[in-house]
Amino acid sequence: MNAYDAKRISDTLVAHNFEQAFDATEAEILIFYTCNIRERAVQKLFSNIGLLRNENTKVIAVGGCVAQAEKSNIFQHKHINIAFGAQTYHRLPEHIEDVLAGKRRQILDIEFDQAQKFECLPERKNVSFSEFVTIQEGCDNFCTYCVVPYTRGREYSRPAKDIIEEVKSLLSRGTKEITLIGQNVNSYHGEAPYISIGKPKETWRLERLIREIAELDGLRRLRYTTSHPKDFTTELMRVHADVPVLVPFAHIPVQSGNDRILNAMNRGHTAQEYMDKIAKFQDICPRIQFSSDFIVGFPSETEEEFADTVRLAELVGYTISFSFKYSRRKNTPADKMAGQIPDETKERRLAILQQALLKDQICHNNALVGQTQEVLFEKVGRKPNQYIGKNVYLQSVIVESNVNLIGQFKNVKIETAGENSVMGKVVE
Ligand code: SAH
Ligand code: SF4
Repeated sequence: MNAYDAKRISDTLVAHNFEQAFDATEAEILIFYTCNIRERAVQKLFSNIGLLRNENTKVIAVGGCVAQAEKSNIFQHKHINIAFGAQTYHRLPEHIEDVLAGKRRQILDIEFDQAQKFECLPERKNVSFSEFVTIQEGCDNFCTYCVVPYTRGREYSRPAKDIIEEVKSLLSRGTKEITLIGQNVNSYHGEAPYISIGKPKETWRLERLIREIAELDGLRRLRYTTSHPKDFTTELMRVHADVPVLVPFAHIPVQSGNDRILNAMNRGHTAQEYMDKIAKFQDICPRIQFSSDFIVGFPSETEEEFADTVRLAELVGYTISFSFKYSRRKNTPADKMAGQIPDETKERRLAILQQALLKDQICHNNALVGQTQEVLFEKVGRKPNQYIGKNVYLQSVIVESNVNLIGQFKNVKIETAGENSVMGKVVE
């Protein structure tokens, strides 16, 4: 989402006659767009400012969740002029003008203003073959470890009409793959485009939105991320089975495999309920594969409770996973809980879990050997003539080619598999 926001910030500034610099040394305005979901975000920000600030710098702006969380404390770094939230970047051009004109030296603008932000943003520029589109922002779930509800604000769903228009405009300019994004995309409930006379305003869920977007001309591949297990409906599983452009792949973060920890995290489901959804999903859409996020070392997590997480991971057999050491975040309930786990223990548990997850990942990679997979190529590889792309399951596929493949879909016959990628040949 930060990548999406950063693109829209740069489009907004260009629309206000600012010019993008080639590198930071020649830039007069430095904008840092930040994330503070885990660990040392403020220190990283301050050290990056130290690295990039130079004699040409006239304005330093800090946006996103660090600004939102630190509020005016951020100005303890004396070179920061503007702190703006994830919901106020449409006002950044005027704030920069004010600083440049000497009207103000420090500006704090961190309100939650989602609807107005999206209305004020200019049309997307520099469109690529694969693009993100935000459909939903913020979160009302208040998992006890997480800062998102405080920094990204309460849940907001963009009206379906605006999303469809943004997708259409991207497709008309060559985008082939769209990823619908949000902190909780499957809790989407945006205003429907049509109003039936005499009926109350209708809202669309993600299921309906996907079905409509899938019909648009030019779309080759559709993804969405990230989702919450409790909002995974049977209908959403059916959409995966019915809609060919939607990938047969779902990111369903479980965080822990233990009920006491899931409850302490305020996740709203048990391990068994999660497993039941996975089984039902496989039943409805046999091609489906899964990825997940995990947190190890949540306060008071015992060795046995951690072992439940490893067991659950082994049972599901994820294609790809993201696992993290629990990170204490200021002003979250878990930060005040008893039984904080020492870092060495978190390190050890993370290594054990990651080893188990890697085994599954290798297994999924091996299973591809001999298969032909459709791949969208994204970038060049390390060796000459190498190109790297992704299959529907987000696995990296590497091929050799004398022609540039970036931005193209090709069928690839997979020949060998490694830990993090597979290799093959383009076939007609
Ligand atoms: N809304 C999604 C996750 C968004 S945050 C969900 O509920 O599943 C992305 C991931 O960051 C989370 O899934 C979690 O694994 C991780 N994360 C969030 N807060 C964290 C913290 N305090 N410490 C460690 N990992 C955290
Ligand atoms: Fe954070 Fe996701 Fe929980 Fe929301 S649902 S509080 S974003 S982890």
